[in-house]
Amino acid sequence: MKILIVGAGIAGPTLAYWLQQTGHEPTLVERAPQLRRGGYIVDFWGTGFDVAERMGIVPRLLDEGYRVREVRELSATGRRIARFDPRHLITSARGRYVSIARSDLAAAIYDSLGGGVETIFDDTVTALHDDGERVHVQFASGSERDFDLVVGADGLHSRVRSLAFGPDEQFERNLGISVAVFEVEGYRPRDELVAVMHTQVGRQALRFAEHDDATMFAFMFRHEGEIPVDDIPAQKNLLRSRLAGMGWEVPEILDRMADARTFYLDGASQIRMPSWSRGRVALVGDAGACPSLLAGQGSALAMIEAYVLAAELARADGDHSAAFAAYERRLAPLILTKQDAAIGLGSAFAPRNRFELLLRNAVLGLMGVPLIAAIAMGRSLRDPITLPPLPAGRAV
Ligand SMILES: Cc1cc2nc3c(=O)[nH]c(=O)nc-3n(C[C@H](O)[C@H](O)[C@H](O)COP(=O)(O)OP(=O)(O)OC[C@H]3O[C@@H](n4cnc5c(N)ncnc54)[C@H](O)[C@@H]3O)c2cc1C
Repeated sequence: MKILIVGAGIAGPTLAYWLQQTGHEPTLVERAPQLRRGGYIVDFWGTGFDVAERMGIVPRLLDEGYRVREVRELSATGRRIARFDPRHLITSARGRYVSIARSDLAAAIYDSLGGGVETIFDDTVTALHDDGERVHVQFASGSERDFDLVVGADGLHSRVRSLAFGPDEQFERNLGISVAVFEVEGYRPRDELVAVMHTQVGRQALRFAEHDDATMFAFMFRHEGEIPVDDIPAQKNLLRSRLAGMGWEVPEILDRMADARTFYLDGASQIRMPSWSRGRVALVGDAGACPSLLAGQGSALAMIEAYVLAAELARADGDHSAAFAAYERRLAPLILTKQDAAIGLGSAFAPRNRFELLLRNAVLGLMGVPLIAAIAMGRSLRDPITLPPLPAGRAV
């Protein structure tokens, strides 16, 4: 089948890879003029790691990623409050865990296509008409084409979702926390392979030294209001106002915000839908099932979903309705479990009150005991799902 995939992030190119392997003809369309660079770092583990392994990209991910050796919490004056060594968790995950820039993960997935998938950059879809036999697609560039299927892999604010399923309000659940991330060059101090944090009631600041003398800063803060969309100066003002009066290095970090080479600010939301498909249109990754960044596993889940969707299409031998139903049946319980678990994690990043802050710091301290860390985290490092095999005769 000719299958249009909208979005070349994590889910889109993974799906393109597996569709290509199973004899389909995918086309990717990406709104950005090229693959995005820089941005934030994701922790990557679980069954998504197995999918990456089947695609042969794990050596590259380990080479380009980071093996974090300490998570450190500091007070407003820079005194150490708690620390733990996350490599104990990596051992529980049998070494199948890496922290890597989201854009490096996306690039590794995209490069695995070997240039064999048509990719249209700097364009998007503006209308989808599913006549039962084909989907007629109009693009922002003015061109029009027909596809057998269209898959939205265009992230949390998916255009395909709103075109095919209706307004976002039905599906988006804001968790009351926002996140901002930016990167600058030449910041000091660095503390290689250490995630250094300072957390107060309602907000957290984190610094992590990246390759090539760059530093990533991430901020989480309680925020129920609107986020200024596509207005970076207004987003920076919002961030400044939310971090006002915060100690540690925050004033110096905010002074460097003007030099930021990348800047991101958004609300932490989940996408919960009664179904991930309608007719010949389906969703994959954050577009249909965003667990929110609090889950710390959206990339891995996006890869699992992309693999399972392609596998079910191959297993159903062209019956897309049967494949979409099987895709949903197989994954919905896993996604719901991850989404429910993520909701409870907000207090770890932006505690609501002093009690939650003290409790969070105490738990962080206990994570310094390897056995406790393994017991506390061990289960969440294993995903309760088995990847379906591809039918005999199809690629590995
Ligand atoms: C601060 C932060 C920290 C995170 N930490 C982690 C973590 O530790 N571990 C983890 O696994 N996950 C983490 N995540 C979540 C993870 O990044 C996402 O779950 C993952 O990127 C989802 O992949 P995706 O392909 O569905 O969407 P995306 O990666 O968002 O990709 C969507 C793509 O679609 C493109 N696009 C958007 N709209 C259109 C359009 N209209 N037309 C065409 N193209 C379009 C975008 O440019 C992008 O390339 C974090 C997220 C954030 C924000």
